[in-house]
Amino acid sequence: MVKIIKYGQKRRLICEICGTLLEYEECDVKTVQTGMNEYEQQIECPACGETVVVN
Ligand SMILES: [Zn+2]
Repeated sequence: MVKIIKYGQKRRLICEICGTLLEYEECDVKTVQTGMNEYEQQIECPACGETVVVN
């Protein structure tokens, strides 16, 4: 059972493409399947429009 510790907590990340500091929430993250059993968490950078992988 997954528990929410802090709901709606904002997280920060620097876009690897344009270097912009981004603030995002859980609802902005898209889970994309990249392989048989591999998934990647991604957000879209509003500054450059590129997809940034969330670690
Ligand atoms: Zn960017």
